[in-house]
Amino acid sequence: MSIIYTCRHCGQQVGKLNQKIVDTTVLGFDQLTVEEKQYMIHYKDNGDIQIKTICESCENTLGEHPQYHELDFFIQ
Ligand SMILES: [Zn+2]
Repeated sequence: MSIIYTCRHCGQQVGKLNQKIVDTTVLGFDQLTVEEKQYMIHYKDNGDIQIKTICESCENTLGEHPQYHELDFFIQ
């Protein structure tokens, strides 16, 4: 299966990991609330996991508008 990171702001694919076994603890999933998991993590029909994150350019945009950070949460 693959873990695909997609920017939730612009939809760009940020990164992709190919793993046979996914340890969700390593990914930091255990630190998320149930609501955050439901929002950020999508299990696709083919077994891939799609994770909504933020790409560099959107992060830079948000960095110029720090008030937006209050509305969002991030996987570090
Ligand atoms: Zn983006």
